[in-house]
Amino acid sequence: MHKNLIAGEWLDGVAVSRNINPSDTRDLVGEYAQADAAQAELAITAATAAFPAWSLSTPQQRFDILDAIGTEILARRAELGDLLAREEGKTLPEAIGEVGRAGYIFKFFAGEALRPGGEVMPSVRPGVGVEVTREAIGVVGLITPWNFPIAIPAWKIAPALAYGNCVVFKPADLVPGSAWALAEIISRSGLPQGVFNLVMGRGSVVGEKLLHDPRVAAISFTGSVGTGQKVAAACVSRMAKFQLEMGGKNPMIVLDDADLAVAVNAAVNSGFFSTGQRCTASSRLIVTEGIHDRFIAAMVEKMKTLKVDDARKAGTDIGPVVDASQLGQDTDYIGIAKSEGGKLAQGGEHVEHNAGGAPGFYLTPALITDTTPAMRINREEVFGPVVSVLRARDYEEALALSNDTPFGLAAGIATTSLKYATHFKRHAQAGMVMVNLPTAGVDYHVPFGGRKGSSYGPREQGRNAAEFYTTVKTAYTQA
Ligand code: NAD
Repeated sequence: MHKNLIAGEWLDGVAVSRNINPSDTRDLVGEYAQADAAQAELAITAATAAFPAWSLSTPQQRFDILDAIGTEILARRAELGDLLAREEGKTLPEAIGEVGRAGYIFKFFAGEALRPGGEVMPSVRPGVGVEVTREAIGVVGLITPWNFPIAIPAWKIAPALAYGNCVVFKPADLVPGSAWALAEIISRSGLPQGVFNLVMGRGSVVGEKLLHDPRVAAISFTGSVGTGQKVAAACVSRMAKFQLEMGGKNPMIVLDDADLAVAVNAAVNSGFFSTGQRCTASSRLIVTEGIHDRFIAAMVEKMKTLKVDDARKAGTDIGPVVDASQLGQDTDYIGIAKSEGGKLAQGGEHVEHNAGGAPGFYLTPALITDTTPAMRINREEVFGPVVSVLRARDYEEALALSNDTPFGLAAGIATTSLKYATHFKRHAQAGMVMVNLPTAGVDYHVPFGGRKGSSYGPREQGRNAAEFYTTVKTAYTQA
């Protein structure tokens, strides 16, 4: 039994969640404690008690702790990557890459702990000095989704601790294994008791407790739009700080002048890798007339070569969908797209057993052509290996289609034209823009996040993380 870490102790929960391998549903990854609201309350109490001392800890102490956590994660990359692939279903190379990212994020924020910014300036009044400094905000509640089970926790926990906050961390209940392994590493890092707490459990129980407890100063949430709206409403009602990273319907434009191989590789990677379960996945391909048919033919040829199999097997390109419910959502959307007039050009086949005969949630990557902007497949997030294609007359129409969405996380363009690339970078309504690159796959040392319906509040990651995890103080002194 994997227990919760509350006030420095490993505690049993009130229920148990079974973590099942989506590549082979006979394989139980482990059993994980589920806390109730009273245990979440204990964690908040412990974090509140730990805050005064931790917020005044030295940069050296924070550096040493975060650096040690990063070092252990990187040293155990292969083992933790195997656990991640086993519980979530992304392929082993993708999972090992994600673990590496988590390790480097801790290293990055170890460095940031040594570089607290501030400004000293003269006042507009004679003889007065002004200092502008940043301070920790207090106890932060961190709520994460299942699709990046170690990287997203890392990019919230590391800056929270680096800037002197105390943490109550609630991972997704579907894949708690990587989160638990990360918490176990953190528990041995030398942090004072109560500074970091792991509370696994239901969103409607543990998550809700975090949203409504007045001692939780801020909530950082990544997940679906529907849950994000609940987080926002609860936080506004008690004036708590909050930050939301939610869904996407990310476009990738392919222009007539694109390098065909570059465009196909970028579209296949960002549409289908990690089983399409990335918030930054390109789920709408917007292709201009002159290249449309050649591009579709090349996509179909490439897609036929992709191996859908056990996430941990060498040579697998695409692992399973995370669970039965997500698989149902994916196949439902394929059906809806067809009923609305889309053509299934390739894939979309539910496969019940992998090549080794194990039962799992397999779906061959699906390409749906001949769609129109109003179809649900072009407006709603599917969150699976399902990509739609829109045809555009020219760049101007393609740009308008790409921005015609309630979301605004990432947007891409494949082109050899400097003119169009430059124009697109300026006019794409998205937080992240890629030229001749997949929309998914971003660096760990720069801001991450979107606009419109995808995100709310300050950006995560990079030096921008300080915006959320600190509050500014302006001090005046008459000497
Ligand atoms: P989800 O909204 O179902 O759950 C996210 C987290 O919120 C989980 O920990 C869940 O237990 C918790 N939760 C659920 N109900 C709650 C409540 N009432 N109060 C408090 N917490 C609650 O999302 P998911 O299915 O785990 O993740 C998939 C979604 O995440 C997709 O929409 C995807 O686009 C999004 N996502 C966004 C980003 C990004 O950075 N923009 C990154 C990854 C995933």
